[in-house]
Amino acid sequence: MSQTVEHTGSYYAYSANPSPQRPALRGSLRADVCVIGAGYTGISTALHLAEAGFKVVVLEAARVGWGASGRNGGQIVNSYSRDIDVIEARHGADAARKLGAMAFEGGKIIRERIAKYDIQCDLKDGNVFAAFTQKQLDELIAKKALWERYGHTGLKLVDKAGMKDIVSSDQYVGALLDTWGGHIHPLNLALGEAAAFESLGGQIFEQSAVVEVLKGQPATVKTAQGEVVADTVVVAGNAYLGNLIPQLAEKTLPCGTQVVTTERLDPALAKSLLPGDNCVEDCNFLLDYYRLTGDNRLLYGGGTVYGARDPGEIERLIRPKMLKTFPQLENVKIEFGWTGNFSLTLSRLPQVGRVDSNIYYSQGCSGHGVTYTHLAGRIISEAIRGQRERFDAFASLPHYPFPGGRLFRVPMLTMGAWWYEMRDRLGV
Ligand SMILES: Cc1cc2nc3c(=O)[nH]c(=O)nc-3n(C[C@H](O)[C@H](O)[C@H](O)COP(=O)(O)OP(=O)(O)OC[C@H]3O[C@@H](n4cnc5c(N)ncnc54)[C@H](O)[C@@H]3O)c2cc1C
Repeated sequence: MSQTVEHTGSYYAYSANPSPQRPALRGSLRADVCVIGAGYTGISTALHLAEAGFKVVVLEAARVGWGASGRNGGQIVNSYSRDIDVIEARHGADAARKLGAMAFEGGKIIRERIAKYDIQCDLKDGNVFAAFTQKQLDELIAKKALWERYGHTGLKLVDKAGMKDIVSSDQYVGALLDTWGGHIHPLNLALGEAAAFESLGGQIFEQSAVVEVLKGQPATVKTAQGEVVADTVVVAGNAYLGNLIPQLAEKTLPCGTQVVTTERLDPALAKSLLPGDNCVEDCNFLLDYYRLTGDNRLLYGGGTVYGARDPGEIERLIRPKMLKTFPQLENVKIEFGWTGNFSLTLSRLPQVGRVDSNIYYSQGCSGHGVTYTHLAGRIISEAIRGQRERFDAFASLPHYPFPGGRLFRVPMLTMGAWWYEMRDRLGV
């Protein structure tokens, strides 16, 4: 019998809302749709389909929200890892128009879900992009103009003097506040969405790693002790999918990133760090991101360990970054530290498509996936229901395999990351 896989030792697992252990799949089931993976991509797709009356079965190798969706920084960041202007320059005005029209939808889906299903996940408004240099601030000014062209009306530029109302750190020259962004307890969002799906008759099996997908009409999705025969399959394993579908594995690189949370802070100290209670990410390529949790801890993430190596001492990696931003936390204890994998693509745009006429996938949000994965769930569910236009807008973007093959892509990416880190340090 295979070993049970539990949540990583994160602050989120420690503070998770009660959620049942789901059984492992045994025997054979018939479904309209079988979803592989119970992160945001999988659960969001399943919930959209269940709302539309489909019989959906979700198979999860570990626990609901076990992957990046239950470990991330909790930042609701709009648009994509590569913004709409890059999409326009690389893929043309038509692609930019179509993807731009969807760039703020994921965040709205999250808020709709939280309100509709009364999900308790510490939702707070406002995410901040903080600039270290005038060059970065100029880029934020351009981002504001770009997003406003696509209909965003909730953006505010913050100058150096105004930063004191956002974050008490003197390293920034200014920022862009997105009032449509925000932050959440990510695992509790995933658990709440899973419960919503189940309330509509959906079934989730945990500890049920998919070991084989047999193509066909219907397709058969096999686990160690069972199978789901389904008209349609959705592959949503992202950075944890491994080599289940080899042609998907070669196009992404799982990257580890690390997060810590402090002990509970005195409320006055917490408020002094982030007076607006927004979440913040800086504008460096290898960015730091942080926010206050619902119980007044500072949650701080940063650094990228390419190739998903588990860092031995997460605190050793992140604490110096945290103290650089907030030297006033010198004597504050770190209580939790964990790592999680996101999936990087060469273009840094998500990959959406089909590996067979009835086998859909979405992967590779390249670090900004909280909003995109919710959009992905909607556009995949639309495609399964026969409305393909928005799915096709993503699916028509080219996907590139990583250079260097399986052996050399991690060292090559490490060198690339080093190069960008140098640029960040030099402010160029
Ligand atoms: C530490 C960290 C911080 C981040 N911070 C942010 C942030 O603040 N804001 C933001 O926008 N994005 C952030 N991201 C990225 C974001 O979390 C991800 O893009 C997003 O959660 C991906 O969701 P997903 O459902 O596609 O993948 P995951 O959440 O990783 O879910 C995939 C699931 O599939 C399961 N699975 C895999 N293979 C199989 C199989 N064979 N059979 C069954 N199940 C399988 C896994 O067990 C897993 O539960 C962060 C990521 C990390 C790791």
